[in-house]
Amino acid sequence: MTELLDRLRQREWRLTAQRRVVAQVLTGEHVHLTAEAVHGRARVLLPEISLATVYNTLNELVAMGEVREVQAGDGPRRYDPNVTSAHQHLQCVRCGALWDVEPAGADDLALPVDQQRGFRLLDIDIVFRGLCPTCDQEARAPAAHSA
Ligand SMILES: [Zn+2]
Ligand SMILES: [Zn+2]
Repeated sequence: MTELLDRLRQREWRLTAQRRVVAQVLTGEHVHLTAEAVHGRARVLLPEISLATVYNTLNELVAMGEVREVQAGDGPRRYDPNVTSAHQHLQCVRCGALWDVEPAGADDLALPVDQQRGFRLLDIDIVFRGLCPTCDQEARAPAAHSA
């Protein structure tokens, strides 16, 4: 997949310093950050960047279709730069860790033709929820961590 920053360069989006650091934070290591987490990482690169600017930039990227908003459970929205391949998500309901799931075959994501009801599909959102190994271990041994 083409990384976000490369895609933005290709479409000649005006990369101000603020936009660049937001795109940089979302590029590469594929995690699904909250806006606050994007802000935290962006500030390491550009200390004066505000949370409002981060939100504005994220909203712009979403509107451009270069970043996807993922609403997993009740938690804050996550921002996903992986818009080029249809995928599902695997989420830990305890710590919120969110991973991509690449379907084994393209058909695994398909809506059966006899159930499409004439819809033109815009988006697919599948989230598998569970406990990651760390949280599962802690959930099984509550006494060890209770205050
Ligand atoms: Zn977890
Ligand atoms: Zn994703």
